[in-house]
Amino acid sequence: MPIKIAKNSGFCFGVKRAIQMALDSSQRCEDIVTLGPIIHNPQVVEKLKDEGIESVDSIQDIKGRATIIRSHGVKREVLESLKKEKVEIINATCPYVSKTQDYARQLSQEGYQLFIMGDRSHPEVIALESYADSNAIVVGSPEDIPAKKYSRIGLISQTTRSMEELRAIVSALLLHCNELRVMNTICNATSIRQQSTLELAKESDLMIVVGGKNSSNTKMLANISQKFIETLHIETAQELDVGMFEKVDRVGITAGASTPDWIILEVYQKISECMGNIGTSINRVEDIPGFKEEEC
Ligand code: SF4
Repeated sequence: MPIKIAKNSGFCFGVKRAIQMALDSSQRCEDIVTLGPIIHNPQVVEKLKDEGIESVDSIQDIKGRATIIRSHGVKREVLESLKKEKVEIINATCPYVSKTQDYARQLSQEGYQLFIMGDRSHPEVIALESYADSNAIVVGSPEDIPAKKYSRIGLISQTTRSMEELRAIVSALLLHCNELRVMNTICNATSIRQQSTLELAKESDLMIVVGGKNSSNTKMLANISQKFIETLHIETAQELDVGMFEKVDRVGITAGASTPDWIILEVYQKISECMGNIGTSINRVEDIPGFKEEEC
């Protein structure tokens, strides 16, 4: 097959759930907003806006409207402020992210110095830090670990990081403490998308990674893929042109956990046209060769 999709691609459980909660709530509530983008995909955020669900950046902009908490969660203080404002809260935080927040609280309460492996500017990590009772240390790589000894370290991870990164941090932290407690909070949906991407990259001449340029898990898929083969990270089909597929026999497509089916299908159709297969009758992601979703 010249065009194949990674067997696990596109929306994960947590994203499907958050969007469904938003759409269901919009049927009930006339005035409704999301605090920050509900997921890291600008096209989905725009689509929800068309349904009357606006994304606002701060509590001041909510102005009494029902508020959806995004799948990555928000800081503990933000949730408390919303409760004080007495606005209706629709908490669409992914249960796997909530679990990670619980671990942050638990480890710090038990006296562990909390380390969070992740990107310190990512909303999920910013929120996780707030659940620790004492200062958490965020590390993106072993080089970020302070040159100090700790008696007990508790480690959690941003849900969208890779096992390879977690192993590297664990090995490095072992040199900094007497006791290391690791909670593997990398979400299964993330791991299986990374594994499927890696497998497909190995049998492709070109990989197209579809998803928000601001999406951590999509960027991770692009990073994994480009270790094996030329890789393009795009948000929509408009970024593709026929010249990109010259001298390419096998194209692999993969998509982040926040990429909707309609965008994946448009990308598939565009690649088909670019490769001379005009008129493909596929109109469901599930029917693209290679797709086989495994539940997380
Ligand atoms: S990637 Fe995992 S943690 Fe993140 S929203 Fe999806 S299921 Fe939840």
